Amino acid sequence: MDERSRILLIYTGGTIGMVHDHERDVLLPFRFEQLLDHVPELKAFDIDIETIQLSRIVDSSDMRPELWVELVGLIEHHYADYDGFVILHGTDTLAFTASALSFMVQGLSKPIVLTGSQLPIGMIRTDGKENLITAIEVASTKKFEEALIPEVAVYFEYRLMRGNRVTKYSAEHFDAFHSPNYPNLAEAGVDLVYNHPYLRHSGPEQPTFHKHIEEQIALLKLFPGISEDAVNCILQGNAQGVILESFGAGNGPTSPMFLRALKTAVDSGKTILNISQCLAGSVQHGRYATSAAFDEIGIISGGDMTLESGITKLMHVLGNYSGAEAIKEKLLESIAGERD
Ligand code: ASP
Repeated sequence: MDERSRILLIYTGGTIGMVHDHERDVLLPFRFEQLLDHVPELKAFDIDIETIQLSRIVDSSDMRPELWVELVGLIEHHYADYDGFVILHGTDTLAFTASALSFMVQGLSKPIVLTGSQLPIGMIRTDGKENLITAIEVASTKKFEEALIPEVAVYFEYRLMRGNRVTKYSAEHFDAFHSPNYPNLAEAGVDLVYNHPYLRHSGPEQPTFHKHIEEQIALLKLFPGISEDAVNCILQGNAQGVILESFGAGNGPTSPMFLRALKTAVDSGKTILNISQCLAGSVQHGRYATSAAFDEIGIISGGDMTLESGITKLMHVLGNYSGAEAIKEKLLESIAGERD
């Protein structure tokens, strides 16, 4: 006889865990132990669901690396006891947390599925119930005794996506997340249909947990006419790593001022990772003259990574590796399916 699956549901905050307080006409977080009262459908599952929450429940705009470390600690502590993990998270920075977790927990043999909602779970038209119920189903799905999704994934509005490939695309629509450069892992209709060629293979029994994070990261987003002051303000600051958010296929201005500022930063030991402002497509150094100098200066191509993935990967790599060559090699490698 099959044993019942065991799922750990971790609540971090966000709209999904809120109810409308009619007296005060505000949205308030509900006591998480009351989840089953709000989603009685969960009792119909042949799955054991236990719930736990972060020490601090936050609107995800207040998410911080120290809370990622706490989340990873919880998963590490409970890893052997559950078949899968579902994380309820605010949508605003959910893509960052999903990306960060994919680098902080490597070699997964069990699913970590993040979800949230655009409307609180206590509201009649909520999208939260379907998101939560299907996320739990995904986290407990096995094939030949092995988890079908042994990776960090995001389930939202009928789509399961690789966690480090998603970006929040809409503040309004229920399909808030897109995965522009990687196919969906599954789609939910009458059936849950998995996209088998694109699923990751299971890692070893025990994953590796990486809790060091470099927080001194900065973002230099280009725009036509960006001033020397603005460029230097970012490149001459304390950041150990800078994301250069470039145009199109990874392009930037060819002015000597700009190229000199980049070279000075790289020569002083900073890591610069080039991520495109475009959601779809890839950085390709040298395709246009406007990125021809980047390889020579020592700027690292972020390929087709999302901005969320680029930022959290830079935090992870700089927190765990030293030496320009080792850092470059790791950034160019696909650690958790985040880049081609
Ligand atoms: N501000 C909320 C959050 O990200 C929005 C949401 O949950 O959708 O926590």
